[in-house]
Amino acid sequence: MPTLGEAFFSIESDLKKKFPHPFQVIAVSKTKPYETIRQAYLEGIRCFGENYIPEAIEKFTKLREEFPEAKECVSLHHIGPTQSGTIRKLFGVFQFTHGVGSLSTLSELLKRADKEKKLIRYFLQCNLTGEESKHGFSIEEILANRDLLYKSENEFCKWEGFMGMGPSDGNEVGTRLAFQRLSDLRKEHFPEKKLSMGMSGDFESAMEFGADYLRIGSLIFGERSYVG
Ligand SMILES: *Cc1c(COP(=O)(O)O)cnc(C)c1O
Repeated sequence: MPTLGEAFFSIESDLKKKFPHPFQVIAVSKTKPYETIRQAYLEGIRCFGENYIPEAIEKFTKLREEFPEAKECVSLHHIGPTQSGTIRKLFGVFQFTHGVGSLSTLSELLKRADKEKKLIRYFLQCNLTGEESKHGFSIEEILANRDLLYKSENEFCKWEGFMGMGPSDGNEVGTRLAFQRLSDLRKEHFPEKKLSMGMSGDFESAMEFGADYLRIGSLIFGERSYVG
C-alpha cells in the first residue's frame, strides 16, 4: 500500500508526464478522520476537498491549531452543492466552493462575502447530463446569463470557473461527452475560466479535456466506509 503522500504525488507526476497544462489535484478527504488528514499533511499534501461543512470545520480547525503554518499553506475546497442556508459557514474555512448551482445561491454568496470580508472563489456547477437528480445550471442557462455572470463578482467573491461531473452510472462515453461539453463551453465563451472536473474513476478523461482542478478521493485515501 502506498502512503497517502505517495499516492497523491504519483498521480500528480504521472499526469505531468502526459499533459502539458498546469493543474491542481484536490485530495478529497471527506469522511476520513482527523488522524488521516494530519498524516496526509505531514506527507506533504496541501490541497484538500470536503463535502460536509461541520465535519470540515472540525478537522481543519484542528489541523490549523496543531500546525499554525497550515493557515497559510493549506487550501480547502468545498465540493458538495453550495446551499444558501450554510453559505455563511464557508468563510474563513474554505477558500473555494465548487457547487454554486443557481443564480439565487450565487447572489447569496456575493452578499455574504461582502459582509464577512473573507475571500472565497467559486465554481458554477453545470448539469452536463440533463439528469434530474443532478444539481446545477444547464449550459443554456449559463449562456443566457453570460453578462450577468460576468458582473457577479465583488472584492471578496471571485468567479474561478465551472464544475461538472459525468453521468451517475459512470459510463465512459457519457462521461467524455459531459467533459467535452464543459470544455467547449469554456473554449467558445469563457476562455479564461478554470474547469473543475475529474474524480478517481475518470480524471484521465477529464485531463484530456483540459481539467484544471481534479477532485480525487478514493484513489488517495482508499474506499470510504460510508457514502459521501
Ligand atoms: C466524493 C466526491 C469526489 C471524490 O470522489 P472519488 O470518486 O472518491 O475520487 C469528487 N467530487 C465530488 C463532488 C464528490 O462528492
